[in-house]
Amino acid sequence: MVQLKSKREIELMRESSRIVAEVLRLVGAEVKPGVTTLELDRLAEEYIRSFEAVPAFKGYGSSKHNLFPGTLCTSVDSEVVHGIPGRRMLKEGEILSVDVGVKKDGYYGDGAWSFPVGEISEEKERLLRVTEEALYRGIEKAIEGNRVHDISHAVQEYVEINGFSIVRDLVGHGVGKELHEEPSVPNFGDPGTGVRLKTGMTLAIEPMVNYGTWKVRVLADGWTIVTQDGMPSAHFEHTIAIVNGKPEILTQVPN
Ligand code: MG
Repeated sequence: MVQLKSKREIELMRESSRIVAEVLRLVGAEVKPGVTTLELDRLAEEYIRSFEAVPAFKGYGSSKHNLFPGTLCTSVDSEVVHGIPGRRMLKEGEILSVDVGVKKDGYYGDGAWSFPVGEISEEKERLLRVTEEALYRGIEKAIEGNRVHDISHAVQEYVEINGFSIVRDLVGHGVGKELHEEPSVPNFGDPGTGVRLKTGMTLAIEPMVNYGTWKVRVLADGWTIVTQDGMPSAHFEHTIAIVNGKPEILTQVPN
């Protein structure tokens, strides 16, 4: 069941999502060669807790023996998503995707952004630009009366005409009282199909775009998803609400 949110619930999600956006801005400013992903993670956790909010990913997981240990997912280059923060030092020319979830007053916000580490290649720059633009192409379709796969198709089409590929194994999702709610929001699909979109829906739209093949695999840590061909990948995500029939981005990083 898709849970439609009241105005009051969306107001609460604005708050958790605002913290998500602030974390991404704060962490993004610290992304540079020599910084470890664990340092970024600590910065994020401290910031989130200063609002009496909770890092949503920390302790998340279906296996009790392998719960996610970080506040952030930090995924470098060929790591697509769910990278575990650690002692890895960022190097010039890499790209880092940072994904963060925040729970405050019972409601979640979820967002991700990919950052260049120092100077990056033109091709990586293009991968970042195309993935970010694909996210906005998808959000534009989150209009009352459209269907979920109108979002999916807009993302897929933009990515593929630009020569990159869309990850199939992982998808966007409803978000609100739970971090992951119905419906699934794939980044590929046929227009005019899927659940009909309505005012009050709250969605995490999150294209994961690979430079080479769309195929991915999971590392032995049970979390980190990497590209099968070792080529780089980028990830951008916003939590949106459909308000008065139109998409409102709740995790917009303020300038
Ligand atoms: Mg998400």
